[in-house]
Amino acid sequence: RKRDPILVARNVTRTYGGINAVDVAHVEIPRHKITALIGPNGAGKTTLFNLLTGFDTPQSGDWQFEGRDLAGVSAYKVARLGMVRTFQLTKVMGKLTVIENMRLGAASQPGESLWRAFLPPLWRGREREITQQADVLLAKFKLDAKRSDYAASLSGGQRKLLEMARALMVKPKLVMLDEPMAGVNPALTQSLLDHIKNLKAEGMTVLFVEHDMHMVRHIADWVIVMAEGKVVAEGPPDVVMKDQAVIDAYLGAH
Ligand code: ATP
Repeated sequence: RKRDPILVARNVTRTYGGINAVDVAHVEIPRHKITALIGPNGAGKTTLFNLLTGFDTPQSGDWQFEGRDLAGVSAYKVARLGMVRTFQLTKVMGKLTVIENMRLGAASQPGESLWRAFLPPLWRGREREITQQADVLLAKFKLDAKRSDYAASLSGGQRKLLEMARALMVKPKLVMLDEPMAGVNPALTQSLLDHIKNLKAEGMTVLFVEHDMHMVRHIADWVIVMAEGKVVAEGPPDVVMKDQAVIDAYLGAH
């Protein structure tokens, strides 16, 4: 068995009008690895992300990140504890500039009403440090030329890069990416893959949801398969992706 997981979750359930969107008895995310979370549409992958990161509330369940209970902890606190996520549909703020989006990342996660309210106290005395950190990341993600442009002017792939860069502003230990490749044009695909591999090289743990099996095979160290809210298989990619039950789960819905 995997030892020393960064995240352990037990009996996490979330129903929507009688449907078990998530019904996970036990799942562990191995530390310092890249783990892919796969499964057919509606399997509960995004809902599990929402629950674990404080964007949704489960009916039951508990989970520990770095040994710390996170059930009931709000999203911005989860982020500051070192667990941060991106979204299937990016939540960059189009009417703010790229650098402003980055500064927001130092405070919280997007999509929260408290997002702006937290900034003034957080920034007090740290503006220069936060801006410097943002500029280093923008250069790394080759978005520095866009620094002062409105985020609305970015391409889909650039938004994915900005959202990933912004997530790194909290100096996370676990980075959760929801469909990082969706909507990215082929010219940016390789650079996005390289960025994800770099996160691991820099000591972070990565968990990503993805339908692109080429990408899963290419970069995942471990694969977790969900279907109908449950974890139905897990293992190294070469083993899991030959598993008949996994193939059935996929072919059943695609
Ligand atoms: P996809 O690969 O299409 O993104 P997924 O594995 O991420 O799918 P979820 O989006 O988590 O799946 O959905 C799991 C189930 O929960 C689906 O049946 C979905 O319709 C339902 N569901 C998710 N969010 C809601 C919501 N806010 N209200 C009602 N039902 C929801």
